[in-house]
Parts: sequence; C-alpha cells; structure tokens
Amino acid sequence: MRPEILFPLFAEIDSLPGIGPRLKPLVERLIGGAHLVDLLWHLPTGLIDRRFSPPLTETIDGAIVTLDVFVERHEPSPDRRRPYRIICRTDDGFVTLVFFNARGKYLNEVLPEGEKRIISGKIDHYRGEYQITHPDRIGTEAERDAIQTVEPVYPMSAGVTGKTLTKAIQSALSHVPDLPEWHDPALQKRHGWPDFKTALFQVHKPEDDRDLLPDHAARNRLAYDELLANQLALTLIRAKMKKLGGRSIAGDGGLRRQLGEQLPFSLTGAQQRALKDINDDMASTGRMLRLLQGDVGSGKTVVALMAMLNAVETGRQAALMAPTEILARQHFETIAPMLEKIGVTCTLLTGRDKGKARQKILDGLASGEFAVAVGTHALFQDSVAFHDLAFAVVDEQHRFGVHQRLMLAGKGTAVDVLVMTATPIPRTLTLTAFGDMEVSRLDEKPPGRLPVDTRVLPIDKVEDVTAGIGRAMRQGAKIYWVCPLVEDSEIIDLQAAEERHRILVDQFGEGRVGLVHGKMKGKDKDIVMDRFAHGDLSILVATTVIEVGVNVPEATIMVIEHAERFGLAQLHQLRGRIGRGSGASTCLLLYGAPLGEMSKARLKIMRETEDGFIIAEEDLRLRGAGEVLGTRQSGLQAYRLANLDLHGDLLAIARDDARLIVDRDPDLQSPRGQSLRFLLYLFERDEAVRYFRSG
Ligand code: ADP
Ligand code: MG
Repeated sequence: MRPEILFPLFAEIDSLPGIGPRLKPLVERLIGGAHLVDLLWHLPTGLIDRRFSPPLTETIDGAIVTLDVFVERHEPSPDRRRPYRIICRTDDGFVTLVFFNARGKYLNEVLPEGEKRIISGKIDHYRGEYQITHPDRIGTEAERDAIQTVEPVYPMSAGVTGKTLTKAIQSALSHVPDLPEWHDPALQKRHGWPDFKTALFQVHKPEDDRDLLPDHAARNRLAYDELLANQLALTLIRAKMKKLGGRSIAGDGGLRRQLGEQLPFSLTGAQQRALKDINDDMASTGRMLRLLQGDVGSGKTVVALMAMLNAVETGRQAALMAPTEILARQHFETIAPMLEKIGVTCTLLTGRDKGKARQKILDGLASGEFAVAVGTHALFQDSVAFHDLAFAVVDEQHRFGVHQRLMLAGKGTAVDVLVMTATPIPRTLTLTAFGDMEVSRLDEKPPGRLPVDTRVLPIDKVEDVTAGIGRAMRQGAKIYWVCPLVEDSEIIDLQAAEERHRILVDQFGEGRVGLVHGKMKGKDKDIVMDRFAHGDLSILVATTVIEVGVNVPEATIMVIEHAERFGLAQLHQLRGRIGRGSGASTCLLLYGAPLGEMSKARLKIMRETEDGFIIAEEDLRLRGAGEVLGTRQSGLQAYRLANLDLHGDLLAIARDDARLIVDRDPDLQSPRGQSLRFLLYLFERDEAVRYFRSG
C-alpha cells in the first residue's frame, strides 16, 4: 500500500490550521481534491510583490508599495459612515491610512502614535492625499523581512480567501518529505530541474513573473512528474496485461472466407490494414489491447466481426460490448443475420433481460452454445461466465473508463481486447489517454459514399427550412432534427425539443413526427427509433441522444438547431448519422446570431471537411488540449500540473522514458524503480503499483 512517508501528504485538508468543517468542502471543490497533495498541485497564477519602496511622490495609483512611516496621529471616525484615519509621515510627505468599521483599540495597538512602522498595501491618490485603505501588512522595523516579501496569488472561488489558501498551502509545504530522486539524472540535468521538494517550494514561492511561466524549471519538472506518472502507470498496466496473455489465436480463416463471400463489397485498404494488425496481435502470445479509430461509417463493424470470427474459428467465444442498449441491439441486428448464414450462433444480453430469458442466455454462454455474444456492460458482470472467451470488442470506448477495460480483460483466461471508437482523437491526445496502446486508424471511407452537402444558415430561416423539409418528406426523405443544447441540463434541452416537436406535428401531423430524448425509457425509445427506421415516421426530433451510433441509412437530412452551441466533435458525430446510404445527404446547421469567432471557425470547418481526423486536429487547435480532454464528452482525464498546449514536448519524452523504465525494470525493483513508486503514489496511480502484488 501507500508508503508511510507519504501519509502526511494524504491527510485530509481540514487537518491544516485555518480549514474547518465549513471551509473544507469549498476548498475541496476549488482544488479538486481532499488531501494535502491536492493543495500542493494548486499552483499560483500570479504574485504580489511587496519589495517595492519608492518615494511617495513617485508612486503610481493602484501599485502595491511597502513604506516606512512615522505614525503622527489618529483621527477616529466621527460617525459610523465615515472611516477611521491615521495620518503618517514618510521621508518625503504624508500618507493617510484609512479603515472602515475600525476598532480603535486594535489600531492603537498596532499603530501607536509617535512610533515607526512598516506598512504595505495598495496606494492611491484621493483629494490631493496619498492613501492606503486597509493596509495588507503592518509591522515593526524588526518585522521588515516578513513584510517585504513576494506573495503568491492563487486561483480562488467564492468563500475561499487568498489568505486562507496561502496559509494552508504554506503549511502543506511543511509536510513535504525528502524523497529520493526518481528522474534520470541526465534528463534532469539537461532540463535544469530542481528536486521534487525544491520544485514545490519554488512554485509556491515565486520571486518574479518569470517564475510563473510554464517553462520555468520548477513548473516544468512538476509537469513532467505528472506526465511520467501517467505514462508509467499506463505502460506498466499494458506490460502486465501482455504478460498475463499467453494465448495465440489464429483461426484457419474458414468462417472469415465465408463471410467475405457474403459481403456485397470488398474491404477497403484501411480495413485490411487494421485486420492485419489485429490478426498479428491475436496470433501473438501477448495480450492484445488495440484501439480501432474510425469515423462513423468507416466500416469498423465488419472489421470487428472478422476479428471475432478469428476467435470463433479456434472454437472459442467472442463478445461485443456497446455502451447503450440501443447500440447493442443495433449491432446485434446487423451481425446476427450475417452470422446465422455461416452457421455461427449469437446472442444478445442487456440489462433488460430478466428471469428465465436471462438464465437461458447465461446457460448458453457458459456452455459455449453461443459462440458470439453482443450486449451492454451487463455482459461483464460477475454473474456472467463464459465457456471460453478469447476476444472482446468494446465499442465507443470513450464512454468507458480504464478500469472497466481492465475488468473486462479479466473475464476470460486471456481475453484479447479491441476497443473501437468513432471519436477520432488527435494523435497527441491518444498518447496521453491510452499511453502507447496500439492504434489502427480507418482513415479511408468505403467507396461510393456521396459527400454530405453541409450548409450554414441563420436560425431566422427556420420557416424556409421547414418548408423545404416538407417537400423532401413528400419525396420520401427521412429527417433528423436535433435540438439545441441550451444548458448542461437534460430538462431544459427537453423543453426545446418538445417545443420543436409540437411545431412540426402541427405542420405535418402526429403520425409523421417522432420525439426521442434522454429521459425516455429504453423500450419507448426503441419504439420511436423503430418507427423512424422502418415505419411511418419521417422526422425524428431528438436531443443529443442520437449522438451515439444509431443507424438509419435511409436518413438523408439532418437539421441541427443552434449548431453554434455544439462542440466540433459533437457536430461531427451528429452529422455522421446521415450520408450512410446511397442517397445524397444534406446537413443544415442553423445558428443564432451573433456568432462568436470560435463558433464561426467551427461551422466553417464543418462546411469544409467531413474527415473526422482533420476535424479532431482542428478542434484541438481551436480549443487546446485541456478543453478537449477536460470535457465530459471526451471522458478523458485532464492534467493538474501539465498543460499539453505548453508541455506537449514533454509528453513524448515521458512516453519514451516510461517504455525504457518498464523494459529494464518491469517490476520497479531497482533503486530508481523504488523511487518511481513514490511518484506513482503521489499522483494516485496506485492501481499501477498494485499490479506488482497481484502477479
Ligand atoms: P462504423 O461502425 O465504422 O460506423 P459500419 O461498420 O457501420 O461503420 O459501416 C457503415 C456501412 O458501410 C455499413 O452499411 C457497411 O456495410 C458498409 N461498409 C463497410 N465496409 C465497407 C466497404 N469496404 N465497402 C463498402 N461498404 C462498406
Ligand atoms: Mg458502427
């Protein structure tokens, strides 16, 4: 478990002076954690320099100055509304200290008449007088050094003052132990990095503005600490999984050949390349963990299916897990008929299966009667046992966390895992999120797709749009109408969608316009979706629930209301729902004026390209890695100390460093390895260390 020497840093923050039960939750929210380390990771963004002691006549309004004064006389406030004033003399003039709601007794103690004092605060000119209102610091000459300092300024939030925070952080610093260096000496020397403890002290005691820059040696070091901790954890887990593997899966190709003969198309070059990667992984005795990235419609399903058949050819089982019920069902509907034709048994298991029906599925999985299982995470609950699961595909990975991925891998004796995602992740971010997980990209669309005609229109053209849609409907078109994300609130989104639904129903009739939203029950959603896919509905009004994966190839029109409120990745995902069939498709992006620069840039990119990888890179360029990683949608974790926009070069170094460490010292046994364990614990990558114990 966590080494004892680190215990103090993982004490709760209310063990510090000045943080009580009332403040604790506020500070926790601000710093994003409950422990002393979290305070240490809360870096200053500015500083107050009290070293400046100019002659009075040379001071600038609003500047922070520290002055030597002689206290001339007190002028207590004549009434409650007027302030208490203390007139002080300096070498070259007078300065008045102003106090509202003052306590005279206290002021006489700290600023007695006829004595010298040092004061520090913000100076201003007021009615021909120099004034300092509520000086920040008051002291005697003996206290000069404690006053004339540079103070860090921290990001703050309501209810948490800078003073409280500074005090808490300073006392947290006093608990930082001396730890052995974990970095490679040559690398450390090259970058001029101080040791960990010194770095922490330096970042929290900035001397001048340069110390606040991200490329300052101390900040740089801490950023690297964090990046290395993350990369090392991912690399260790990967290495461990590979070692745990030990089954080579290489079917005779019989079923795959049969499937290939059934397909009305031949595989694209990108699909063939991805399959070669996957087959090689599966054939090796290591455990596979590969990411298959490809836009919606790039043909991931067929790749997954071929890979599953590889496992089935060896007499073992394969599973496909989708993040939602709708998606699982859809996969099943696509896959099951194809498998049936080549004599492969397949079942569907979701949370909706209960009682006898569920038991029958479970029995079939345990006996091996079902060679292929499709489902939601229900597939990987403890109660589910497979006869011999060898291969698992996880669709839409960004909805699942690393832990789930690991849990899944523990389901069979040696389950090879293929993760599929339709969210193209920029290369630099793939690295931070997945470490050096192998990646195959489907960067080539199946042939014969017509490009989607994307148009950008102001929302006040909505009536023209509705009229146009009416004409398209009469020619049999199917239309998605996506309603705006008003706030991060399903309820408000829903109101907008219901309103639009009502308007369209008025116009086109109840039987033609459906509504789906996130608050609906799974069954009800399925019914509406099914009526849209196969039945009478021509228009489907939706909140962003349709974002993930639904497949209605006949849909050729998509209207996105208030497109400026959606992120680029989201717009791209949404648009991916059309242009899947053979008909020409149109996407109408309706925006509310006035359009900000960022929204303008986003909509322009949408008009110019359909390539998800380009869009992802543009998104990264526009928003920065912090944003792209930080959003709920990405499901990825943002960094505390590293800023990928500024420390991007360190990331590649950290990856190589981590690889080298794990190659040479896979159990972190060497002296450096032992030190690196501290690093992993500091950044709460405990799970990576735990792996040494379990195997
Ligand atoms: P994804 O899962 O990546 O969104 P799908 O696997 O659902 O994409 O494929 C989208 C459509 O393209 C499906 O109808 C599929 O049959 C078809 N398709 C897949 N590969 C090819 C190919 N090589 N040539 C033509 N059509 C293809
Ligand atoms: Mg798919």
